[in-house]
Amino acid sequence: MFIKQELLIENQFSAIRINVGIVQAPDIFFSFGNARNSFQLMRLYQAKYLNGANEKYFVMFKNNYKYAKEAFHNLNTALVKVSDSARISANAFKANQELQVYYETFLKIRSASIDLKKASRKLDQHELQITRTASDIASEIESEYQSQNKVMQSLVLRTQFEIVVAVIISISLSLGLILVVSRKITTPIFLEMQKRADELERLAKLDGLTGIANRRLVDERLTLEWQRLKRAKETLSIIMVDVDMFKAYNDYYGHQKGDNCLFRVAHVIDSCLKRPGDLAGRYGGEEFIVILPNTNTPGAIEVAEHIKKHLFEVNIEHAQSDVAPHLTLSFGIASCVPCEESSPDRLILLADEALYKAKRQGRNRISV
Ligand code: GH3
Ligand code: MG
Ligand code: MG
Repeated sequence: MFIKQELLIENQFSAIRINVGIVQAPDIFFSFGNARNSFQLMRLYQAKYLNGANEKYFVMFKNNYKYAKEAFHNLNTALVKVSDSARISANAFKANQELQVYYETFLKIRSASIDLKKASRKLDQHELQITRTASDIASEIESEYQSQNKVMQSLVLRTQFEIVVAVIISISLSLGLILVVSRKITTPIFLEMQKRADELERLAKLDGLTGIANRRLVDERLTLEWQRLKRAKETLSIIMVDVDMFKAYNDYYGHQKGDNCLFRVAHVIDSCLKRPGDLAGRYGGEEFIVILPNTNTPGAIEVAEHIKKHLFEVNIEHAQSDVAPHLTLSFGIASCVPCEESSPDRLILLADEALYKAKRQGRNRISV
């Protein structure tokens, strides 16, 4: 008797296992497939079985239902030949029915499989669409990100640039501020220092007792005028002035009065000079010098006369003088057009010689 034991359905493979009870060797296995050679194999096994061998299975692949049917028919015929034909054919009929059921089931499965495939294709389409949409969104996000990134980068660059500019501006401002502040602080100090330095320099060139030019300034000016007049080929005159009998004055009136007297004499001499280039200086002790640029001998005599007259008017008492009852001066004048062969020292020497001549001739006079 045929008993359907199991129906195995897989994707591309189906099988029926049938127990053939009538046959002494128990199990027969039908497997339905799509390869003809498998069916040939099944036939082979069938023949072997019928010959009393120990083989138990027939093998077929699905989709070849007609081969299965044929195989079953062959089996049926074979079995009828061997044993009780009535019972075998009844059982074979049953088996045939079972195969029919299997076939219908197979068709249902196939149509279900087709539906499944259709659904799967649709699913694939959707999936494709989803994939496309996803990739579209991804590329959109990517491009958005890129543009955002560009914006961010330019923003970062701009910010960096702005920071650098701000730093430069603040440094410049700070430096400017420091400069302004330090200038505000230092400028007055500097000006004051400059003023004091100028004052010190001026004082350094003035005689401490009389306040007129000292020997240093006199020498400086004389050299300067000598050079200038040498180029200009013009006359330079100097007057050496000496207080007459001043030792006696000092001895009689005292040193303090002597100093005071020298101060007055200096200012008498200084007040008699009119031109801006003229300079009166204390040459040493009670001796003075007058520098007269662009002045010839008559001009120098005129100045000396003026000083002599002015001192007379000032009338400083000198009780011990052999010359007059008042203070008198002796003058030595020298004039020249400065040249390479001569020198300021030589001019002073000439003026000194003239001065001593004036002394020798009785003082209170001008000698050239
Ligand atoms: P002479 O007419 O020949 O010039 O006679 P003198 O007495 O003026 O000449 P001398 O050279 O013999 O004397 C100059 C005096 O001048 C000597 C000195 O005591 C005085 N003397 C020089 N310098 C100063 C000074 O700065 N202050 C005072 N008070 N006297 C001075
Ligand atoms: Mg004198
Ligand atoms: Mg003298």
